[in-house]
Amino acid sequence: MRQNTKQTVKQIAVLSGKGGTGKTSITAAFSILLKDRALTADCDVDASNMSILLEGNDYHEEPFFAGQRAVVTAENCTGCGICEAVCRYDAIRVKNGIAEVNNFNCEGCNACSVVCPEGAIGFKQNRSGTLYQRNTDYGELVHAALGIAQDNSGKLVSTVKERAKEISKAKNLNLIILDGPPGIGCPVHATLTGISLVVAVTEPSMAGHHDLERLYSVCAHFKIPCVVIINKYDLSIEKSEEIEKFAENKNILVVGKIPFDKDIPRLQSKALTPLELPEIKDILKKSLDKILSTAGSI
Ligand code: SF4
Ligand code: SF4
Repeated sequence: MRQNTKQTVKQIAVLSGKGGTGKTSITAAFSILLKDRALTADCDVDASNMSILLEGNDYHEEPFFAGQRAVVTAENCTGCGICEAVCRYDAIRVKNGIAEVNNFNCEGCNACSVVCPEGAIGFKQNRSGTLYQRNTDYGELVHAALGIAQDNSGKLVSTVKERAKEISKAKNLNLIILDGPPGIGCPVHATLTGISLVVAVTEPSMAGHHDLERLYSVCAHFKIPCVVIINKYDLSIEKSEEIEKFAENKNILVVGKIPFDKDIPRLQSKALTPLELPEIKDILKKSLDKILSTAGSI
């Protein structure tokens, strides 16, 4: 892949602080409006669903490895049980005279291998997820799925971002839109690395306001500017005004206020975005213009 090494790629992350705010639908709508002018990266690897809204062809798929798991060489095992006694995760047990590893429980800590008198325990790389590259009608999407009961989602987020940057540079695109994970934990920190601007999607509720404040604190800590979208703002005008007041006090621009529309769940069930509704499409277009203008001035 040929890359333009001098090109700067701006990354705009859409985050929510909490799940269920409509973050993914709004990110998908921005990707559709930007059509071919940006690459989309789904960093919500624990519950990846951007690929449902941005349909297309996964032209590339590769395994993602993180950590290690113990492996017993049966011929060398005497069934002494020393490994079972030392494992704190109940991940290795002697059955029929040979130690067996439960991959779901094994943390790859190495303790069993150290104590095994026969040198019967080695390690294999742990496949914890899959990375995909997809062509859609609206440009390219990099997405990933973490395997069942796997952690290391922060590392997978970093891998998704790295791949998105490589493709953007190769295609001379200077913008990546990222659908971030909910919360403020490790996957969000991984998402925030190298980000130009955060679009915080919130809703007018006590939890929405509280989680916006937490997200703002994380952004402020990393010195990343943010703007706010209040989704379903008319469900509580009072709470929306509180959020606007908070934003004003922190010098954060509210780039959009999207009204509640009972048709949105119906659209979501058909894998469609709010862009199908003309009034909301207009608000999203104007919000995107303000976001791009803010990102451009950074
Ligand atoms: S400590 Fe080694 S030899 Fe003993 S049961 Fe475990 S794997 Fe087998
Ligand atoms: S590597 Fe650690 S967690 Fe895995 S079986 Fe050995 S002692 Fe248990």
